Amino acid sequence: MKGHLPRKRFGQNFLVCRGTIAKIVDAIAPRRIDRVVEIGPGLGALTEPLLERLDHLHVVEIDRDLIARLHERFTPEQVTIYEGDALKFDFGTIGTDLRVVGNLPYNISTPLLFHLAGFAASVCDMHFMLQKEVVDRMVADPGTADFGRLSVMLQYRFAMERLFIVPPGAFNPAPKVDSAIVRLMPKPAAALDARDEALLAKLVLAAFGQRRKMLRNNLRDLVDEAGLEAVGIKPTARAEELAVADYVRLANALTK
Ligand code: SAM
Repeated sequence: MKGHLPRKRFGQNFLVCRGTIAKIVDAIAPRRIDRVVEIGPGLGALTEPLLERLDHLHVVEIDRDLIARLHERFTPEQVTIYEGDALKFDFGTIGTDLRVVGNLPYNISTPLLFHLAGFAASVCDMHFMLQKEVVDRMVADPGTADFGRLSVMLQYRFAMERLFIVPPGAFNPAPKVDSAIVRLMPKPAAALDARDEALLAKLVLAAFGQRRKMLRNNLRDLVDEAGLEAVGIKPTARAEELAVADYVRLANALTK
């Protein structure tokens, strides 16, 4: 670890397995002129091999000690370093057609994914390492226990694919759980058919509020039973039984 003590509060599990690192970079398949943004470069496990295949790289890092090391190791011609919290970072300022990558800090993975979803229009694709359990929820099919708010909101906006699993031994320190690499490709604007995305988000949040309850209960404040039936949704169904398109149809029916 070259003298750096991993900080738990920043979700620091550094990649040390060369084979895994090579596999991730191959999955990203960077081309020299791509506009790549790495979230949480840390000690540079991905940064260095990415730079071998890129003219330039943008990185967002929160840990001041790691930022100092990055400044020592890379020139501004090689890497633009943004110091701060990726959760608050305006990715749109870097440009369009972004390829966002990173071995993400697991403690903020869900809010970070929601934050990034807001920049989908500026993104070409994204490749992330996350807890396998989170990736399974992202790509889950309706009717399964993993299908939830994360699945609906991300599947609305992205086509997603779990690429491969990474065991704890690939990291130092080793996390307690398996990890996985996921690819997210934004859907074309024409495929995003929710008329009011804020309402869709509100509806999905309420629907999954209490997973075991029926929709007529969870959605009581937003729509009555007749309103559900009018768009072909059974009031007695549970949130996980609906497809993404059902949520969009219901949200559009509620949009004045
Ligand atoms: N990319 C390195 C690797 O694969 O070895 C480090 C990955 S480590 C799992 C997560 C990285 O994200 C750390 O460098 C950590 O300091 C950084 N990080 C944690 N929270 C962050 C935040 N809110 N914004 C930006 N970077 C963050």
